[in-house]
Amino acid sequence: MNLSKNLTLEEVTKSSTAEKLKIRNDNMTEEVLANLKALAEAIFQAARDKLGPIRISSGYRSPELNKAVGGSQTSQHSKGEALDLQGISVSNKELFMFIKDHLDFDQLIWEFGTNTNPEWVHVSYRRSGKNRKQVLISVKENGKTGYKNWPA
Ligand SMILES: [Zn+2]
Repeated sequence: MNLSKNLTLEEVTKSSTAEKLKIRNDNMTEEVLANLKALAEAIFQAARDKLGPIRISSGYRSPELNKAVGGSQTSQHSKGEALDLQGISVSNKELFMFIKDHLDFDQLIWEFGTNTNPEWVHVSYRRSGKNRKQVLISVKENGKTGYKNWPA
């Protein structure tokens, strides 16, 4: 099943952790599925059309999977509102900048990596249209993940 022209539901639910721990990750509600479709159109497909193929390193996480990967309890990944992306023919930074400058999003996070390139890009989108356009950078301090406004 396709969420948008170039994104399948399978790509968004695939998780090596879920496979390893035998956690089901494809049993979302209709509401979550509708969120995923809106996210796929507004963010993934818009970026894909301009930047070429994009890897999904994490998409939907069932509440059980989210717990297993140590995700935040309020993670938008569990609502079908967030994707972790990596550029294939462009750098993660180019992907980050494109989303920041051209798309409507709720939260955009430069995830770890270096000053010149994030390890991955977290982006969320709310189907309601109430998108905050919050741009953050993640930082590890004393082993804990924190967030600062971008640019730090
Ligand atoms: Zn994420």
